[in-house]
Amino acid sequence: AKDEGRGTFRYFQPEMDARVKARRALEVELRGALVVGEFTLRYQPFVSVETGKITGFEALLRWNHPERGMVPPIEFIPLAEDIGLIVPIGEWVLRQACRDAAEWPEDMRVAVNISAVQFKGQKLANLVASALTMSGIEPGRLELEITESVLLHDSEANVAVLHQLRALGVRISMDDFGTGYSSLSYLRSFPFDKIKIDQSFVREIVDNSGDAAIVSAVVGMGVSLGISTTAEGVETAEQLERLRAEGCTEVQGYYLGRPMPAGEAQKLMARQS
Ligand code: C2E
Ligand code: CA
Ligand code: CA
Ligand code: CA
Repeated sequence: AKDEGRGTFRYFQPEMDARVKARRALEVELRGALVVGEFTLRYQPFVSVETGKITGFEALLRWNHPERGMVPPIEFIPLAEDIGLIVPIGEWVLRQACRDAAEWPEDMRVAVNISAVQFKGQKLANLVASALTMSGIEPGRLELEITESVLLHDSEANVAVLHQLRALGVRISMDDFGTGYSSLSYLRSFPFDKIKIDQSFVREIVDNSGDAAIVSAVVGMGVSLGISTTAEGVETAEQLERLRAEGCTEVQGYYLGRPMPAGEAQKLMARQS
């Protein structure tokens, strides 16, 4: 199959040729990775500000590459989205995360990142319903994290899918809030259950009064709209104290816990209960 495309490559510049080839190679490797089971999940806790207890974990995808080690999602998700491979990969993530959560205490939630590409074809609700049934977890324990790109393209069709998902009883979170062009208008398109305040605002919350004011406004808006707020990327005790003072619902970040293997997450939950 590699030789098939060779004839078309001679029309490209050499650098372009190399880039296209590298992309092709990664594509072939990615397809193989799914077949042989090289994908794995890490779980990062989110913690209630009020009680200090873990309320759930976010599933974060890793590629356990035989030579390159743990490959972070930034290095392969964009390509997987381009070539549509994020659909079967995303299905694996969802089913695996639900299976793992079935072993957890019943009040623990699991959050799964869903790409905008997975909304195409409108089969997402069927997949989620199937993952819930197969794992047996309560729908209310599953949180789906989406970014603004879901509401940017095909937004009417995608909002319809969001309503189907909501009808199943799962929770819908708006991820990376504040980084998009018009985050506020997205809150009008769909009644989200949770807003995840992007880590770029949290990073400077102690030193930058502008970022602190934005976080304060988002939390206040969440309170008025009945939407809970989770601050991402919390790395210090000072940041946590500020977020507590602002009335943020939950926190997530290295200060509370790094993404960890499923077994470690389970031990942490066992210690807590
Ligand atoms: P995200 O959903 O915004 O996830 C948060 C990212 O911030 C994670 O990076 C996490 O490891 C990192 N992080 C958490 N706490 C801290 C902190 O205190 N400080 C700093 N500097 N970083 C922190 P990760 O795991 O590399 O994931 C990057 C992105 O890849 C995610 O951003 C998400 O958009 C995407 N992603 C990850 N897993 C999946 C997946 O299963 N499906 C899809 N579609 N996207 C995924
Ligand atoms: Ca996320
Ligand atoms: Ca995020
Ligand atoms: Ca992000």
